[in-house]
Amino acid sequence: MHCSQCGQENPREARFCVKCGAPLDPEELRMVARETGRFSDMPVATAGYGGFWRRVLAAIVDGLLLGIPLAVLQHLFMPAPTGDPEAMARAELTWSLVNILVWWLYAAGMHSSVYQATVGKMVLGMYVVDYQGGRISFARATGRYLAEILSAMLLLIGYLMVAFTRRKQGLHDFIAGTLVVRRAR
Ligand SMILES: [Zn+2]
Repeated sequence: MHCSQCGQENPREARFCVKCGAPLDPEELRMVARETGRFSDMPVATAGYGGFWRRVLAAIVDGLLLGIPLAVLQHLFMPAPTGDPEAMARAELTWSLVNILVWWLYAAGMHSSVYQATVGKMVLGMYVVDYQGGRISFARATGRYLAEILSAMLLLIGYLMVAFTRRKQGLHDFIAGTLVVRRAR
């Protein structure tokens, strides 16, 4: 039996996880979670939550995947410095908006897709669920993305929260009501 809370592989006849003590029966787990708030009552089998460094690696993969083509496009389409500071500022602003648009469509589109993950999260074996273990909508994923900008603006403290919270949630996960979980093999 695979523990949905910590990923521990348990003997078939075990009723409770030998490592973290969580009930292995999903129905029993839901009951204990509701009563004690000790465990997540996620009704899907996962290998636990996506930890801080795993999520940093996923972000690096996504950053390379989108960052490199965007940098190439910027190089191709951004006008060369003309000495006109106003034109340059306009171009910079336009480019920032293009970046936000591309990242929004990518993050919200992928997180609300059947994969429930960006390519980076997929590579690192993670996906995003709501508190019931289900897939999030595009609108919810958009809210999560906007909250992620907030997480980043707070000197990345919103991201660092992943390392210190019980269910490894960043500020954006709390705001959007999401969990990042590891795929059970
Ligand atoms: Zn466990």
